[in-house]
Amino acid sequence: MIMSVIQCKAVVIGDKAVGKTSILNCLLGYPIPFSKRYSMTKGVSISSRSLKVSKYRDEIIEIHFYDFSGRISLYGSLMKSLWKNDISMVIGVLDVTREDSFQNLLNLIGDFTRQANNRKESIAGIILGNKCDLIEQRMVSSEDITQSAKKLRMGYFDCSARENIGVEEAFNHLARTWFETKTA
Ligand code: GDP
Ligand code: MG
Repeated sequence: MIMSVIQCKAVVIGDKAVGKTSILNCLLGYPIPFSKRYSMTKGVSISSRSLKVSKYRDEIIEIHFYDFSGRISLYGSLMKSLWKNDISMVIGVLDVTREDSFQNLLNLIGDFTRQANNRKESIAGIILGNKCDLIEQRMVSSEDITQSAKKLRMGYFDCSARENIGVEEAFNHLARTWFETKTA
């Protein structure tokens, strides 16, 4: 069997404390107790995970995730160059219990799509409505997120990094859509 590995870079964006790092930890299967995962390290951490494009194909996509801590505006020039040159995927995260995290995410995505306007290679994106385990505290409706995601041509998934709900599915979808647009 011939296996081809395709590498690509993804950026994870969203407000502070929406769960960006937790989602990646969940995806990477870190065996650390959930409560201990929260650390506000300064800077950018890069991790990677390989995903199969589909059960029926041999291609493997190795995604390198850029996870920024603190305010993303602090990384202005780095972000700009990543965005202009290398980034193939965007993972936008909001906290469904915080209305402002939704609005801020839409603004962030808007800023970045403007900067990526002249790119040849297509970018695949998903919006993750994280902390869906907090049902009682939910403030942002699935309908509203669905509408925005549609306009932005991004996929949308609710997920919970805490309960490990929806994370794997969302990233499989992302890898598949990216591969399809790339090879279309
Ligand atoms: P980041 O700043 O976006 O990287 O956010 P973190 O991953 O550091 O998470 C911020 C806080 O939200 C931490 O206290 C996490 O334990 C909590 N958190 C993350 N994901 C979830 C989730 O799915 N459900 C709940 N209830 N809490 C979460
Ligand atoms: Mg973080």
